[in-house]
This record gives sequence, C-alpha cells and structure tokens, in this order.
Amino acid sequence: QARIKILGTPIDPVTMAQAIEKAKEMLHQGGYHQIVTANPEILYQAQKDQELQKILEEASLVTADGIGVVWASRKLATPVPERVTGIDLMASLLEESAQQGWPCFFLGSAPGIAEKAAEKLKQKHPTLQIAGTQDGYFPPERTEEITQRIKTSQTKILFVGLGAPRQERWIHQFIEKAKRTSHQPLIAIGIGGSMDVLAG
Ligand code: UDP
Repeated sequence: QARIKILGTPIDPVTMAQAIEKAKEMLHQGGYHQIVTANPEILYQAQKDQELQKILEEASLVTADGIGVVWASRKLATPVPERVTGIDLMASLLEESAQQGWPCFFLGSAPGIAEKAAEKLKQKHPTLQIAGTQDGYFPPERTEEITQRIKTSQTKILFVGLGAPRQERWIHQFIEKAKRTSHQPLIAIGIGGSMDVLAG
C-alpha cells in the first residue's frame, strides 16, 4: 500500500491487520522504527510545523487516527481502508507481543500508572514480557539514563504516552540518539493517555 498524502501529511492506507503485518516486518528487518497514529490534532499541527512534518515523513508507519481523514481519502486513488487508533493499535500490538514474546516497555502517564497498566496487562496476557516502566514526568536531564535503560532492556515495543505531538517528538529524538549505538530491532509508538485507560 503506497503512502498517500492528506493535507500534505503522509498517511499509510492500512487496515489494523496490515499495520500488525508491517510491525512484524519492521522487527524482522531490524533497526529502530517509529509508528504514528495521526489524529486530527497531529495533522493540524504538522501543517504549521516543518519539524513535525519531517517526523511523520520519516516514520515507518503513519496510520489515520480520525474518521475525517478516512472520509477525506475516499476521493483519492488509494483510500484509507479504516481508522486505526492509538489505543486499538496498542491492544493489537500487545496481543501480538504476548504471542511472539516481544518484550514491551511502558513510558508515560503519572507516576504509578505505567506499573498498574503493566500489571493488568500481565493478568490479561500471562505470556506478555514487561521490559520496564517509567512515568512521563521526568526532567530532560534524565532522558539519557532512560534511553540507556530502554536500550539495554531487550525492549522490542516501546509504548510512549506523553500526549501528542510531544511523544512523537520524544520518540524521534530517542531514535536519533539510540540508533547510533544499537542495532537491535525496536518499534516505538505514541499512545497518548491509553495507559490511564488500561490502568483504570
Ligand atoms: N503526560 C505525561 N507527561 C507529561 C504530560 C502528559 O506523561 O509531561 C501524560 C498524561 O499523564 C496522559 C498523557 O500524557 O496520560 C496525555 O494524554 P492526553 O489524553 O492528553 O493525550 P492524547 O491522548 O490526546 O495524545
């Protein structure tokens, strides 16, 4: 499925099932990958923000997280088949991770939330491997240490809940820094407040 553009922003016209297939390919291929579920807020901001636009262009997968985007694409040669939201894609990735043994790292939300979400997920998916957790209220000085912790933890899927588009920027920087010294396959995805829901 060739990447299309909506309001100048790249979108991959994929179903949820295709998004999971792509995630498998990314891990198979190796390297560090960013997945963005582009909601209307991100699309709006990307139009005014070159740097955010570049992040979306460089992402390995950008799904349409808004029904408006799906509708807007209907006139194009390759319409977006369905909406793929952050929380739904997170749920599918978690299921796949539990099956495949991909260790998951949860970063973001208030202190205690990531641990609670991880605990609940472990009950739901007993084979899920938790690589680590970290709340989303750390000072910038701790970014380096947290990056190292993720890199040395065998993490395959990194869920980042810092709110959009802050998490997209954080992931982009993380990848820029981490990829210089590591070749282990990893996917990082922004998930907004999904951990609050999962912990709830
Ligand atoms: N958050 C965080 N660190 C911050 C600011 C926000 O971890 O410095 C978390 C916040 O606790 C919440 C999430 O980011 O869990 C933002 O959720 P929101 O619903 O606002 O984001 P969206 O889903 O709209 O991207």
